[in-house]
Amino acid sequence: MTAGRPIAEIAADAVRVRCGFCWAEPGVPCDADGMHLARFARARRCGILDGPDMCVVLDAVAPPPAEVFTPGSVIPASTLAAAS
Ligand SMILES: [Zn+2]
Repeated sequence: MTAGRPIAEIAADAVRVRCGFCWAEPGVPCDADGMHLARFARARRCGILDGPDMCVVLDAVAPPPAEVFTPGSVIPASTLAAAS
């Protein structure tokens, strides 16, 4: 796997957009123990995240390895907090 940005840094960018799954306001955490995949996808569409960032995000979806990605897939808070 190529070196990407730390997931915590990517999450800090993604939180700037409204979550498309639970509708948490920008800057407000999702109502899950982590962040919804929909939020990262929206940030990607807004140009805040890039392709390599999304690869890091998809690798972090729980439970690993996820067989199906949905907008409600959650990237666990424990993963988001992990320093890399
Ligand atoms: Zn959410």
